[in-house]
Amino acid sequence: MPLKLNKFLISLKMAIFSAQFASAVALIIAASLCLIEANQTGIGIEIGSRGQREFDYFNLALQWPGTFCQHTRHCCSSNACCRGANSPTVFTIHGLWPDYNDGTWPACCTQKSFDEKEISTLHDALEKYWPSLSCGRPSSCHGGKGSFWGHEWEKHGTCSSPVARDEYSYFLTTLNVYFKYNVTKVLNEAGYVPSNTEKYPLGGIVSAIQNAFRTTPKLLCKKGALEELHLCFYKDFKPRDCLIGSTSPNGRLYSSSSCPDYVSIPAYASMGLGSGETEISSA
Ligand code: AMP
Repeated sequence: MPLKLNKFLISLKMAIFSAQFASAVALIIAASLCLIEANQTGIGIEIGSRGQREFDYFNLALQWPGTFCQHTRHCCSSNACCRGANSPTVFTIHGLWPDYNDGTWPACCTQKSFDEKEISTLHDALEKYWPSLSCGRPSSCHGGKGSFWGHEWEKHGTCSSPVARDEYSYFLTTLNVYFKYNVTKVLNEAGYVPSNTEKYPLGGIVSAIQNAFRTTPKLLCKKGALEELHLCFYKDFKPRDCLIGSTSPNGRLYSSSSCPDYVSIPAYASMGLGSGETEISSA
């Protein structure tokens, strides 16, 4: 073959190869952009916008306001610790958290921002049973600060798919589970009533929950007082045992043994403030 023709054929092959390579690269880029877009619009919600896999089980985290409110130092309209005689006297909701069996959890799974209008019909029930117990504004998933409900929805609620696919269904589902598993009633009926003098055996509290719901709860204490009680559920909301020894989203170790053998369940004390410590702000 003449030399010139040979060179021409080699250049032609290289040109074809380059064109094929360029279109393959373009195809890969286009496919990636589609995937990112799908995740951002919620189509890829099962794995989460940050590639988080679907959760394994739910943790219904409840708070004992009598303990939480002991640490109140500021009052404002959003702080239920400051409602005086109308302050909560039942376990209230901290959140419904999708968790993994390895003790970790997904967080901030979609780009969706909290919109209080979407849950306006649930507002009264949420104020009563899922109140903010602080004047602080927890962080939102998209920078900045927001309401307690907004924090719980954006951080945990957006990871609850496919069980609770939107904000309204997340809050409604949580309220329904909370009403079905009435921890306050079970403990009261077992004799574990709020008191500022009594201490109760931790094992007795755990047994009362086990007998009522056939599940082992997880307890968290602060200075010997019961602060949180967690109930765990399969994705169909059948009760299951909580993991013992895993960490909470704020990094603290949770297990029955994180409480002393005898715990208090403090009765509500007006704002939990000692004399001279009262500080009321309109924030
Ligand atoms: P989480 O990430 O769900 O564990 O929520 C932790 C954040 O919510 C922290 O900023 C807490 O101080 C705040 N927090 C926890 N419980 C309450 C509550 N009942 N009211 C207001 N903020 C709370």
